Amino acid sequence: MMNFPTQTKRDWLLYWMLLGIVMGIFCGWQFGEQMRHVEFLGVMFMNALKAVVIPLIMVLMILGVARLGDVRKLGPIGTYTILYYIATTSIAVLLGLFVTNLLQPGTGVDLTGAGQAPKIVQDIQASHFTLMDTLTGMIPANIIASMATMDVLPIIVVSLVFGAALTTLDQRENLLLPLLESLNQALMVIVGWIMLFAPIGVFALVASVLGAEGGGDQVWGQLYKIGKYVLAVLLGLGIHGFLILPLLLWLLAKRNPRVYGGNMLNALTTAFSTASSAASLPLSIECVTEKNKVSRQTATFVLPIGATINMDGTALYEAAAALFIAQAYGIDLTATQQGVIFLTATLASIGAAAIPHAGLFTMILVLNAVGLPLEGISLIFPVDWFLDRCRTTVNIWGDSVGAAVVERFAPPVELDEIK
Ligand code: ASP
Repeated sequence: MMNFPTQTKRDWLLYWMLLGIVMGIFCGWQFGEQMRHVEFLGVMFMNALKAVVIPLIMVLMILGVARLGDVRKLGPIGTYTILYYIATTSIAVLLGLFVTNLLQPGTGVDLTGAGQAPKIVQDIQASHFTLMDTLTGMIPANIIASMATMDVLPIIVVSLVFGAALTTLDQRENLLLPLLESLNQALMVIVGWIMLFAPIGVFALVASVLGAEGGGDQVWGQLYKIGKYVLAVLLGLGIHGFLILPLLLWLLAKRNPRVYGGNMLNALTTAFSTASSAASLPLSIECVTEKNKVSRQTATFVLPIGATINMDGTALYEAAAALFIAQAYGIDLTATQQGVIFLTATLASIGAAAIPHAGLFTMILVLNAVGLPLEGISLIFPVDWFLDRCRTTVNIWGDSVGAAVVERFAPPVELDEIK
């Protein structure tokens, strides 16, 4: 039977993926527009990951609950997971506020052209996103529609409920569970196959996005124009990703951050190239369970939920961006208003879908809450393709650290045998 590549092969895969990113940056920078011709390869790679992610989440979560035998056994894992999410998201938002207050990247920014909103900003203005939408949307009226739009949160809720329902049936006569087990194994094999294509996929994604932005000179111009803002966000993400999360991993989970992080590189490079937590999920599950040896029970609970609601990078970015816009428009925010940003940035990161640019859409919530101009989004939009990749990488890293931390505090419970 064909299975995952072996350890050595996987290491090679990682080197090829890293090379893919480096080559992608080089070619996109150098050849600009021409690199749009390779975009279809990246789209195919991303489509393949998206195609497996929804069935994978459903199968894993249904099995996870069904194998526990009783949904109440999820109590401790659930509690520690939520605590971890809240704590790390709060730290991330505070960091975002701190670096932006410190560096003041928005002060003196040239506002010419800020009102001429690109299409995506007009869409955002028209979307009227509210947190109520996320809340009501958690119970889907049409699960097929949620699957089709990759709306992960309702799918998780339905899978948990379905798994719980299965536990009430007579296990000896339950034909579904062995079927789901086989389905799960087959899906993971497919993920392994897709990953063989990953080096080309990440190359194409990175090269074409740089190409679409007009290549090196244009990109440099964009980054330079609001360079201080880019730097502030990167600094915040860097502190969170390289300092805070490793520290938590070391102190709380007693894991070696270098080893654990090294084992996550496949998932992290995928996150950087796809800018989608959902598309990276199959990889993060594989890296966390196969390489970092976190139990499947913990990983399949913490990671899918984390991919949709625990977005440290996005939370940090939302706070930093809102403050940046305020500074650019010369609006002085009081401590209370910054408190409101803290709350809404946290909620906006929870509400953001695990797809590219989603954080930009939920930003509306933060800006509206403190009365900042939505046109400000057009200031930060030109560099969002880049910052999106960086924050998605931190999002995935935060979830995988969470899996190890939660496992330490809520060790896996004994599973019911599936007959
Ligand atoms: N692209 C991010 C993710 O999938 C969400 C965001 O736009 O911040 O995690």
